[in-house]
Amino acid sequence: TMNGEKQKLTIRLCGPRGFCAGVDRAIQIVVLALKKYGRPVYVRHEIVHNRYVVEGLQERGAVFIEELSEIPEEHRHCPVVFSAHGVPKSVPADARERNLFYLDATCPLVSKVHKQAMRHQRLGRHVILIGHAGHPEVIGTMGQLQEGAVSLVETVEDAQRFVPPTEAPLGFVTQTTLSVEDTAGIIEALEQRFPEIQAPAAESICYATTNRQDAVKSAAPGSDLFLVVGAPNSSNSRRLVEVAERAGAKRGLLVQRASEIPWDEIGDISVLGLSAGASAPEIIVDEIIEAFRGRYDVTVDLAITAIEGENFPVNRELRDVPLTNA
Ligand code: SF4
Repeated sequence: TMNGEKQKLTIRLCGPRGFCAGVDRAIQIVVLALKKYGRPVYVRHEIVHNRYVVEGLQERGAVFIEELSEIPEEHRHCPVVFSAHGVPKSVPADARERNLFYLDATCPLVSKVHKQAMRHQRLGRHVILIGHAGHPEVIGTMGQLQEGAVSLVETVEDAQRFVPPTEAPLGFVTQTTLSVEDTAGIIEALEQRFPEIQAPAAESICYATTNRQDAVKSAAPGSDLFLVVGAPNSSNSRRLVEVAERAGAKRGLLVQRASEIPWDEIGDISVLGLSAGASAPEIIVDEIIEAFRGRYDVTVDLAITAIEGENFPVNRELRDVPLTNA
């Protein structure tokens, strides 16, 4: 402005945001394994979809791999951690065959979906998985059953076109990190065509996904811009951007760090919505608020829609490791 005063900006900071209990547990498993067994600890796939977290763990001695075959012969005794997204059954089977010591960091809420899929099959149903092709959680859930036993449905159009491969009754499960609304639409389309289709015994979309989307929905209306901290390959973070735009934010944007904020494009804003995906550490939220403070006269308003107390215990092998100075 003319006299150099900063423009006023209200930041609506969503809560809950950021780390969920499953991500927190997965990171703890790697940190505790490093403490107990020393370097290196192998981690199959990015433990969570966040570069900052991955690089921090690499500095401590974690080595990220895509396949178990990358573990050299002389490191067979080192632990290998499976990511929070879950893995197909073939992965622990392969690890046993190779005589590897593995620690499974699959989120218990993803394991629950695995069990739901297996239960459908036990009851003679063909399984439909509602989710996004190629996402590691989807690969893991499909890999709980033999090839062909699970059909992936990604959209309402897929649901309308879906042709069951067998005469068996149908049961569905979903990825844990979908948009609550999109999923409801897909389920409705399936139920219209297959009125007998069975839902899982409990909701598959997890508490963290639902809570983060609810908070975004409450903060989005009237926001000139809505920033979500998260990686481009983080499913739950991308859904938060969609939810923000659908709930009335003028524009939603996914950023990994403050350095990615496109200042030139932002223009004249007075209300900014801010949240973070389940894999985004709070330190990056702070960094972004600070970056805005440098350019605007910022007031932070909290948009809190729930209080979370979830906490998942780590693997039994690691419960004797003291957490201090982790
Ligand atoms: Fe578990 Fe949900 Fe977090 Fe995924 S987003 S790790 S399912 S709590």
